[in-house]
Amino acid sequence: MIHSTGDTPGKGYYSCRSCGKVIHLDTDEDALPACPRCGKADWHKLS
Ligand SMILES: [Zn+2]
Repeated sequence: MIHSTGDTPGKGYYSCRSCGKVIHLDTDEDALPACPRCGKADWHKLS
């Protein structure tokens, strides 16, 4: 499942589709940022 910058898909780990950078959202209210490494906007959730 693909999510974009500004989405609030819920807490958990997300990996950048472009560079593989992994980030963590602490709460269900947190929005996905632009990737801090490459600046892209597409993320997929890690399970
Ligand atoms: Zn990236």
